[in-house]
Amino acid sequence: MAASSRLIARLAVVSGGGSGIGRAVCQRFASEGASVVVADVSEESANRTLGSLSHDHRGQEHMAVAVDVSSRDSVEKLLTRIQCQYYQPPSICVSAAGITQDEFLLKMEENDFDRVIQVNLKGTFLLTQAVSKALVASGISKGSIITVGSIVGKVGNIGQTNYCASKAGVEGLTRTAAKELSGFGIRCNCVLPGFITTPMTDKVPEKVISKITSLVPMGRMGEPAEVADVCTFLASDESRYITGVSIEVTGKFPSMSETRAMQMSDHSRCKGSTNTECTA
Ligand code: NAD
Repeated sequence: MAASSRLIARLAVVSGGGSGIGRAVCQRFASEGASVVVADVSEESANRTLGSLSHDHRGQEHMAVAVDVSSRDSVEKLLTRIQCQYYQPPSICVSAAGITQDEFLLKMEENDFDRVIQVNLKGTFLLTQAVSKALVASGISKGSIITVGSIVGKVGNIGQTNYCASKAGVEGLTRTAAKELSGFGIRCNCVLPGFITTPMTDKVPEKVISKITSLVPMGRMGEPAEVADVCTFLASDESRYITGVSIEVTGKFPSMSETRAMQMSDHSRCKGSTNTECTA
């Protein structure tokens, strides 16, 4: 895609910027002219992203900062560092930091439930609140907050009660923040990726990946850059009359009822067959 300048002179902070979707967002924002703060719990990963960012537009200055989004103290320090460096808060904020700790409901430890909620949901709350407060205090009446939910927050996913609950929460948080903050010129929107090729999904067994891609009409997993493109649209003035929405980036992931209908039609096609693959 040809480079353009939709984010020229804008300052953006991206949590989880050290890897996967967050890294692709940082790279895309930089190529569109923004100054980017790469924020990640892994300082090394954040620095690696920093080294990959373009500086083709005048005045661009990027930085990497270590932050744990689940800690209020750490998030407040991040905002202080940004404002000391740039003399303004970021007017674009993407919460892409996230983790999984998968286990079946019947076996899930309380700690694994809590940790996923703390990073994915509370982390999104803390960063959204800190950036919004700083924007309101500074009198900058233009902001775009972008949160990263997941399609599984809508349709559920076996082994991910904690993760799906956190992502459903992120959507509710975003819709509510949009209502509360629109009076301050701050828009809030959520992207819902489907299955995207990143280190997070590298952990998923190949068998499960092929099962998932067989359910996606587009027949493949998504790329981080495809999520980053949607975030760039939401960050830019092209989406200036859009707030409180969730945008699915899934290759049309089927809803629960569509998945069920597919299973039933597979089942009826297989009735009477001696093919063992159809007897499951
Ligand atoms: P990833 O593992 O590649 O990147 C996540 C990043 O978050 C890492 O750099 C990690 O260090 C950082 N991080 C983890 N805990 C943190 C903390 N406490 N504070 C700050 N940073 C922290 O994963 P990804 O696939 O790029 O995921 C990015 C976001 O997209 C996540 O919120 C994830 O839930 C969401 N998502 C991913 C997919 C997918 O298929 N990959 C699908 C739907 C939603």
